[in-house]
Amino acid sequence: MLPTLILKNQKPYRRFHPWIFGGEVAQDPGAEPGALVEIHDHNHKFRGVGFYNPHSQIRVRFLTREHQTIDRGWWYDRLERALVYRQRFVRNTNAFRWVHGEADGLPGLTVDRYEDYLVVQFLAMGLEPWREVILDTLVQLGAPKGIYERSDAPVRALEGLEERVGLLRGEMPPEFIEIQEGPTRLLVDVVHGQKTGFFLDQRDNRALVSRFAKDRDVLNCFAYTGGFSVQAGVGGATSVLSVEISEPAAQLCDQNAALNRISNHLTITANAFDLLREFNREGRSFDMVILDPPAFAKSRGALEGAIKGYKEINLRALRLLTPGGILVTCSCSAPVDLRTFRETLAHAAQDAGKTVRILEERGASADHAPLLGVPETEYLKCIVATVM
Ligand code: SAH
Repeated sequence: MLPTLILKNQKPYRRFHPWIFGGEVAQDPGAEPGALVEIHDHNHKFRGVGFYNPHSQIRVRFLTREHQTIDRGWWYDRLERALVYRQRFVRNTNAFRWVHGEADGLPGLTVDRYEDYLVVQFLAMGLEPWREVILDTLVQLGAPKGIYERSDAPVRALEGLEERVGLLRGEMPPEFIEIQEGPTRLLVDVVHGQKTGFFLDQRDNRALVSRFAKDRDVLNCFAYTGGFSVQAGVGGATSVLSVEISEPAAQLCDQNAALNRISNHLTITANAFDLLREFNREGRSFDMVILDPPAFAKSRGALEGAIKGYKEINLRALRLLTPGGILVTCSCSAPVDLRTFRETLAHAAQDAGKTVRILEERGASADHAPLLGVPETEYLKCIVATVM
């Protein structure tokens, strides 16, 4: 028998959300942080099983809504389902997100596959007792050469956990893992790179850039290691200019361009805000501008500042675009929903004096697809627009 947590009377839709916040709890189970608990509603009806953590604002993370025993077999089943889903919906690459936390019914767990190596993040206290079971199962199902941990995400602190990195199984990944994404090849540094090494959620949006880049002068701001840049190059761009503030990322961006034989490519290590302003002043122009900044708002409190930031870069990018030019603009801030992002873009277009047509509104690739009714999982928006 698991300890029982009793909920207050909830709005019906909240019953299917994967999290329970402290304020929604009527009676705590008095269990250890990270323990499994049964969740009962105010009528004492069984609602599921989840990870309990009294230190976190997210008091419970649901694992199941059914009467299931959480054991080795349960983990095997969930991890296998997650893999089968990727095998169906992720194509033309050997790098994909195998497990995307809550969206796979595996709260707090991230598993990314880069060629023969796995990179994992354990971001919930409740996962800690299951580390070995999870790693065993990943080896069984995925037969990786090595599993490397990158639990150095700030959200670990919110769970009361220390950051952890290091080799967990098999052999150490090479300095750069070469992955293949559509027609491009990319070097990924899983030890020093951002997040787990690469932004796999943008795969389909990068592919779209390749379709639209032909004969265009392309500016890629917030380029990281050049995923969008090489797609533009492979797609036949006349020239590609990458802008990235981090020196190691900028270096890798150059290496990736070379690896894909993109000869008309240049990386500038700079603050994109400053550079966009400078280019505006100089009256520079481009036929395609890509904006993929880091999340300007990680919480609701930062929303206003984030919107200002999005407006500024989009305004400046729109000014640079030639008639018929294409803007690919992204936001990975969860608190900025699609409506808000579109509205911000509209304000930027108005101030830039440009009429803008929306070609596509897109989200993350299938391996990061959001859960219906869980806005937290719908963080990535990508608007593709053309100026008249
Ligand atoms: N488009 C990339 C991912 C971009 S992540 C891809 O497809 O892989 C955002 C990047 O913006 C990070 O590499 C970060 O270092 C960089 N960055 C953050 N602030 C910046 C700034 N002010 N100017 C330029 N780059 C910045």
